[in-house]
Amino acid sequence: MKALQLTDWKHEPELREVPEPDPGPGQLVIEVGGSGACHSDLHLIHDFDAGLLPYELPFTLGHENAGWIHGLGDGVDGLEVGEPVAVYGPWGCGRCHRCRQGMENYCMRQAEIGAAGGGLGRNGGMARYMLIPDPRLVVPIGDLDPVDAAPLTDAALTPYHAIKRSLHLLGAGSTTVVIGAGGLGHMAIQILRALTGTTVIAVDQRSEALAVAAAAGADHTVVSGDSAAEEVLALTKGIGADVVIDLVGVDPTLALAASVVRSMGHLSIVGIGGGTIPIGFFSIGYEVSVATTYWGSIPELMDVVALAQSGKTAEVTRFDLADAPSAYQQLHAGTLTGRAVIEPKK
Ligand SMILES: [Zn+2]
Ligand SMILES: [Zn+2]
Repeated sequence: MKALQLTDWKHEPELREVPEPDPGPGQLVIEVGGSGACHSDLHLIHDFDAGLLPYELPFTLGHENAGWIHGLGDGVDGLEVGEPVAVYGPWGCGRCHRCRQGMENYCMRQAEIGAAGGGLGRNGGMARYMLIPDPRLVVPIGDLDPVDAAPLTDAALTPYHAIKRSLHLLGAGSTTVVIGAGGLGHMAIQILRALTGTTVIAVDQRSEALAVAAAAGADHTVVSGDSAAEEVLALTKGIGADVVIDLVGVDPTLALAASVVRSMGHLSIVGIGGGTIPIGFFSIGYEVSVATTYWGSIPELMDVVALAQSGKTAEVTRFDLADAPSAYQQLHAGTLTGRAVIEPKK
């Protein structure tokens, strides 16, 4: 089968012929219905020298996947061939305290495991078939289309986790600023709409992304740039935002976030742009908390599947596997809105 693989560091991924996977005891194979192209893959492809990440090359890209059960290894029961499932992305040890709580994103043995999951050091979903090492890593999706369900596993799950842990700040009258209205951002806005009464301000450089944000339910949109902080403050009557979710995470977006988050508010750094902000007594509002968040838990994936079943789904642009490199190029150029999902069957 054809697979889009990362074959070298700082090198464009290649479509290569690889063997179809066979499920060993306790494993399963899915036929991939959809595999999302994520902005974090661009960092993976372009930013790391050999040896920086504990991943062995080559491996198939695609860490945001859904499809149909294709083959079950010995000892796997409770799942049926043909059943549609979403694949939980971060693969931990499955046994530590965090993993047993479903938080494999924060597995206590990650350093020893190395690879972070399918598409992140192990073979991901940008191929017709994908090996899943354990049935605990799939969640049934009922009658959702796997193409629509794939973005749930990252583009929805990641902001869902960030929002869920800040819910105590998001009562009526609150304001949330979402910086970056791309694949994760437009899902973050829908999730905020579904879960809270907060007023949502979306910030992005691109007017097309802000149009998607407005359609997803943002109350206000602000073009990022020199006057963005002033505009956000004006929209909050000078008070600032209760929660800022920075889905970009570069120096300018973090500076904007720090300047608009109100005292006792929270800044969630989700984007892996690698920026920093100084935290000190005079650099940010009183009692502002700042946290990075990485992905979400298995029960939270079940929650976003339920949300999708009630109509909160990603805006998706579909690509054939042969066009996957072009999906990444468009993502890089900023010309895509919503989520790009590769359909490897095509
Ligand atoms: Zn991702
Ligand atoms: Zn673990």
